[in-house]
Amino acid sequence: MAEQEILQRLNLLACMQCGICSGSCPITVKAPLNIRRIIRELVLTRKLPKHKEEYIWGCTTCSTCEVRCPRELKPYELLIDIRNWLVEEGEVPVNIRDALESVYKHGNPWGRARSKRSEWAEGLNLKQPTQGEKISLLYFVGCAPAYDSRVQEVAKALVKIFGKMDEDFRFLGNDETCCGSEIYSMGEKGLFEWLVEENQNLFNKYAIDLMVTTSPHCFNIFKTRYPEIKFEVQHYTQYLCNQLEKGKLKFQEKFEATVTYHDPCFLGKRNNIFEEPRKILETIPGIKFVEMPRNKAQSLCCEGGGGRMWYDLPGERLAEARIMEAESTGAEIIVTSCPFCLINLEDAVKTTGKEEKIKVMDLAEIVAQTI
Ligand code: SF4
Ligand code: SF4
Repeated sequence: MAEQEILQRLNLLACMQCGICSGSCPITVKAPLNIRRIIRELVLTRKLPKHKEEYIWGCTTCSTCEVRCPRELKPYELLIDIRNWLVEEGEVPVNIRDALESVYKHGNPWGRARSKRSEWAEGLNLKQPTQGEKISLLYFVGCAPAYDSRVQEVAKALVKIFGKMDEDFRFLGNDETCCGSEIYSMGEKGLFEWLVEENQNLFNKYAIDLMVTTSPHCFNIFKTRYPEIKFEVQHYTQYLCNQLEKGKLKFQEKFEATVTYHDPCFLGKRNNIFEEPRKILETIPGIKFVEMPRNKAQSLCCEGGGGRMWYDLPGERLAEARIMEAESTGAEIIVTSCPFCLINLEDAVKTTGKEEKIKVMDLAEIVAQTI
């Protein structure tokens, strides 16, 4: 029985119904998602409960509930299992369905042609590996940096940084395909397993030492749900921090600004990478670094994970609240290190009318300007 398997796999009988998960869930300010109650319904009835669409698809998988749960449970994984059941029943919101179909057909959730995946890199003379090649550094670009014109600037910044450090790196060009992070979170576990196999077969063609990703979402999924990956995977903030410590990353220019840092959930809460991006920012000459009241494990989600780039909820967006919080610190720039955070925070600057007050930048863009 699927319900029994889910109860055991997620250890939900250990739930003591304290309600900390529901109380700390940032989505409850927009939709009364009550994850504690959903767990209780499954435990009592041994049936996966159906709830309003926005409760099931509203979760960003930010993992705040996991971070705070005294029993070390992962409540959002139950929502992913409910989504999986709804996907199998065909009860999927239309934009989610389109994103899933696009990944199946084109290898990305944005409905863009596979043949255009590496268009952003035209003129940069990037090299793709040959069969069996030993690769010291593979740059995994990701779907948003490959196709979104704003996030392409981050990919170009990273290419500039690799070049300045004389890294003989490779990228996968049009052979790269979606990592499946959002597909897993949307509950399409069959499609996700297919992506894992496709990607692992692709990676197995080369002898990779280290993979560096633009996105914390790609980083997290490769680390946690790709059993055959034997090489090291790092998010670029970890990689740059290592290079800084080795003396390979050096800053030549000043960056005179007061900045604050927004922790991406999949880097911070999911993987405890809090210090590396701060260390890089604090080392750049000219930067005055200030913290927002909600930082590190208390950081506020931007609403970009868990498939939420393709499923909107009405009401004030969490990214808008985040922009107001950043402004209250006196920062001129809110820095982040995730494509989804960058897109959502930039949208929020516009919708809150704060264009004159605060700017959003990716950490890689600041590093590229200062080396
Ligand atoms: S925080 Fe953990 S133990 Fe408490 S209700 Fe939520 S899942 Fe159960
Ligand atoms: S993962 Fe985040 S949005 Fe989802 S239920 Fe947990 S706290 Fe709420």
